Amino acid sequence: MSFSIPDEIQHYEKKIYDQRQLIEISKALSSSLDYNNLIQATLDICLAQVQTMQAALFLTPDMDSDYLGLISGYKGFELNRPLEYYRIPLESLLVQFFENHNKSLTLTEIQASISNNTSLDILREMGAELVVPLKAKGKVIGLIVLGEKAVGGEYPESERSFLVDLASLGGIAVENARLYERATVDMMTGLKNHAYFQSRMKEEREKAQKRKMPLTMLLTDVDKFKTFNDTYGHQAGDEVLKAVARVLIDAARKTDFAARYGGEEFCLVMPGASEEIGLKMAETVRNLVEQMSVIHEGREMKVTMSIGVSTFDADHDAKTNKNLIERADKALYFCKRNGRNQVKSYSEDLKISDNITQEH
Ligand code: GH3
Ligand code: MG
Ligand code: MG
Repeated sequence: MSFSIPDEIQHYEKKIYDQRQLIEISKALSSSLDYNNLIQATLDICLAQVQTMQAALFLTPDMDSDYLGLISGYKGFELNRPLEYYRIPLESLLVQFFENHNKSLTLTEIQASISNNTSLDILREMGAELVVPLKAKGKVIGLIVLGEKAVGGEYPESERSFLVDLASLGGIAVENARLYERATVDMMTGLKNHAYFQSRMKEEREKAQKRKMPLTMLLTDVDKFKTFNDTYGHQAGDEVLKAVARVLIDAARKTDFAARYGGEEFCLVMPGASEEIGLKMAETVRNLVEQMSVIHEGREMKVTMSIGVSTFDADHDAKTNKNLIERADKALYFCKRNGRNQVKSYSEDLKISDNITQEH
């Protein structure tokens, strides 16, 4: 006697499986506040869950832009035009349609409900088969675009509704990552802000302690910047600070982070870096700033920068960030007293050298 599982039970087992998947996906998406990770994860999940080779994401570039743009990490689609071509205005009928309907649509269905328009042309030209809205707080903030199924045929209803659920998790995760970005980044310079610096520094200290790995920080301060502002004006000063910040951001290794400690004082935190590597980095950055010219209103402006370096020391830095920062600050202060435009790492005998007081 053969025994087969009734269809109805199979159907519910599949549903339970899908719900479990969604919980796993939800965990994965909500555990990352990194925007790029999130985009990759969302696309990978789509590829894995519905057997297609092509997945792309359109997103509003930032919170108050008026179009959805194709994000560069798309998978499988072969596109002949520059990325900027693939833009869908939020005002388009397509987006308006998704605003009012929370479901996925095939290109054929879109064509039937919306008369021909350029957004549809873009999707057709890409080779899109299914479009799923990504929403946050009821607003469309993106679209997931999938190509044809690898096995051929149409997307079954179960997959289509699964994708809508997935997209609603993705939308919340993307929105959260954006809010986090806004709350942790200094708008003017693009550097991480002070609050981020303090909390990340705590994490990095704990890691350094646990894994017995070095951790080095650079504290930078533009030389004679008050005079600079007085000479060229505050706006010119801002341009210079943006350029200095860019130097730090570009110099940072993958695991480093650059932050605005306050005013014109920035820092570069280098997990895993010894004092020697930190000093080398400091010298590179100092030199780059010295070589740099910033043009503002036709005038060429130059600045120099001093940098203090300190390295994690389990005996002093196990509990707070304070001592580590203070040591970098002392080294920086030494540079200032010693003529500026230089780098120095902290050592006990800096105190003695402090006596060679010059103007400050
Ligand atoms: P020192 O070489 O000793 O560092 O001299 P300094 O004049 O740079 O002295 P200090 O570091 O104490 O001065 C910081 C100056 O940086 C004062 C402040 O006006 C300016 N500053 C701080 N934040 C900003 C900013 O966002 N934009 C501009 N334009 N200036 C800023
Ligand atoms: Mg200062
Ligand atoms: Mg200064």
